Amino acid sequence: MSISANLDAVRSLLPEGVKLVAVSKFHPKEALEKAYDAGQRVFGESRVQELSSKQEVLPEDIEWHLIGHLQTNKIKSVVPYIHTIQSIDSWKVLSEIDKYASKVDRRVNCLLEIYIAKEDTKYGLTFEECRYLLANENWKALKNIQIAGVMGMATNTDDESQIRQEFRSLKTFFEELKQQYFKGDSCFCEISMGMSHDYKIAIEEGSTIIRVGTSIFGEREY
Ligand SMILES: *Cc1c(COP(=O)(O)O)cnc(C)c1O
Repeated sequence: MSISANLDAVRSLLPEGVKLVAVSKFHPKEALEKAYDAGQRVFGESRVQELSSKQEVLPEDIEWHLIGHLQTNKIKSVVPYIHTIQSIDSWKVLSEIDKYASKVDRRVNCLLEIYIAKEDTKYGLTFEECRYLLANENWKALKNIQIAGVMGMATNTDDESQIRQEFRSLKTFFEELKQQYFKGDSCFCEISMGMSHDYKIAIEEGSTIIRVGTSIFGEREY
């Protein structure tokens, strides 16, 4: 199937209000152009260098999401154009983004990456670490970031009930944070969960952003 047919297939399953991030990491810019020509405007990349080199040559109206682990020394280069950084896993990263965003007078959407999987290869904050980060209310003084929600990755397994349970735990945690810290803040609204093999479950469990690569662009070449 072509990229545009793959996109149509994913889109046909998207309820209103759920955003599709086309995850284009490891695919050449030509693949992104095909998706762009098929109307896709939101793309996700996991490595800063690859993201920057694509951003430089692709249309300006693309909404870029960074979904991979971010080192603090790379923050400066993405802040001028990034729409959302989905991989916030420390106070340090959050405060550095704010620092550079204030220099270029932007506000960057940030999602708190939460560790929900039962495997130890994934980045992210545990529920406890995240509660701890927010309980110290220093983040409220950061004017150039918007904490817009949470992101998580389920365990890479065929066990649907486990995946469902992990997504459900993220949704419940989102509600807890909303209640405790973001009650009047309509911008705290995103639950980014669901990839190629589990986005249908994620949507059933309340996802507002799915991040789909393989089902759109095919297998990645590493
Ligand atoms: C690569 C990646 C995806 C997309 O994975 P697919 O299985 O190809 O859909 C989604 N989220 C994150 C954080 C990723 O690194």
